[in-house]
Amino acid sequence: MKTKIIRPSDRYWAGKRFQNLLGYFELDPSGLYLSSDISEEHRLPIVEAFSTLPPQLIELSCGYELTLNVSPFGNTFSENVCTIYADWDARDRKAVSPHVEVGRSAFGTDLKPYLVHEISHLWWRSRPSEARELYRQFLLETTADTDREVTHYAHRKFEHYLSNLIGAPRSFALRNAREIWMEESFCETVAKLAVPDYKSDEDWTATIDLARRQGSIDQATKLKL
Ligand SMILES: [Zn+2]
Repeated sequence: MKTKIIRPSDRYWAGKRFQNLLGYFELDPSGLYLSSDISEEHRLPIVEAFSTLPPQLIELSCGYELTLNVSPFGNTFSENVCTIYADWDARDRKAVSPHVEVGRSAFGTDLKPYLVHEISHLWWRSRPSEARELYRQFLLETTADTDREVTHYAHRKFEHYLSNLIGAPRSFALRNAREIWMEESFCETVAKLAVPDYKSDEDWTATIDLARRQGSIDQATKLKL
């Protein structure tokens, strides 16, 4: 079995807090590098979910040699259900060295869309800047202030952006809030399109046009869903 050892120098950005991003990873037949301490009970649903992701997301993950581990806790060390870590500013794929941490609370019906969401960050960040800009323009033109985002989580990011728009126009905080909203909105929309039941237990009715977003995700970022 092909293994890789990730040392502190390979992910200098992991720091002391994220030691679980280091160590031994074994290449699973699915194409994921799984942490050697992953239990069979966790490995099976992860591999099953990953193997049915949109093919371009699988291909991208394999191209980047994505590693994955399961957190010993309900949430990840970043206090989310799942988290993707990487050196996003690195020049080549090897140095980007992305890693997905799956919290124990992720296991259940939404495991697959959680993985879609995290790997969509990799899709977003690896697109040419013109592609991201096209999608940003699309979001600005098609999302009204009164709209309800695709999920409650995406909506909270949208509201934060709107509050900055009023409180701090033209500031760094506004640009930052806008970028966070757009990227999280992108990932939540891809997850919802890949798995329509995603977060269906949430008491939430979105008003954004999902089909139109699907068209723009395809056109601007070339992701087929
Ligand atoms: Zn996210």
